[in-house]
Amino acid sequence: MVNKEKVEAAVKMLLEGIGEDCDREGLRETPARVARMYEELLEGMDASAEEHLMKTFTARDNQMVLEKDIEFYSICEHHMMPFFGKIHIAYIPDGKVVGISKLARTVEVFARRLQIQERLTAQIADAIMENLKPKGVMVMAQAEHMCMTMRGVKKPGSQTVTVICRGLFEQDESLRSLFMDMVKQR
Ligand code: ZN
Repeated sequence: MVNKEKVEAAVKMLLEGIGEDCDREGLRETPARVARMYEELLEGMDASAEEHLMKTFTARDNQMVLEKDIEFYSICEHHMMPFFGKIHIAYIPDGKVVGISKLARTVEVFARRLQIQERLTAQIADAIMENLKPKGVMVMAQAEHMCMTMRGVKKPGSQTVTVICRGLFEQDESLRSLFMDMVKQR
C-alpha cells in the first residue's frame, strides 16, 4: 500500500533538495498530486494475477493462442523513470484457456509496480504457467526506457527486448520462430 503522507513529505523534501521553492504557486499542490499519482501507478503491488487468471474455459483444441501488442507503462526501479512499450504473450493450452482481456489485465498487475523489464516479462510468463498450467508460454516485451532515452546514452526510440520461454517453447525452436513470425505480421 502506498503511504500517501510519506510520499507527500518525501516529494516536498525532494523539491527542497533540488533547490525549488515549494511555496510557489505551481508547486504548492505538487507533493499531494505526485502521491496520488504513485498510488495509481503502483496499484499492481496490491493486485494478484490469480484473480484474473482463475476463471478458465475448456479448450477444444490446444493450438497456440497469441495476444500481441498489449501496451504497457511501468516504472524502472533503478531510476524511478517510466519504461513503456508492447508485450506479446503466447501460450499453448492444455485444455484450459482464459478470456483474452485477462492477459492484458495480468500485464497491468505486474507493470504497475517498480520493475525491471526482465522481471516483468518473467512474472507474466510464470503467472500464466502457474494458473493456466499450459503446455508452454512465451512472453516478449519491447520497451523504451526513459532513463536511457532522456539522459545518459540518449538514444531516443531505442528499444530493449526481453523474451521468456517456459515449457514447450523452451524445447521447440520451431514454436519460437512461429511466435516471432506472428508477432512481426501486420
Ligand atoms: Zn532505469
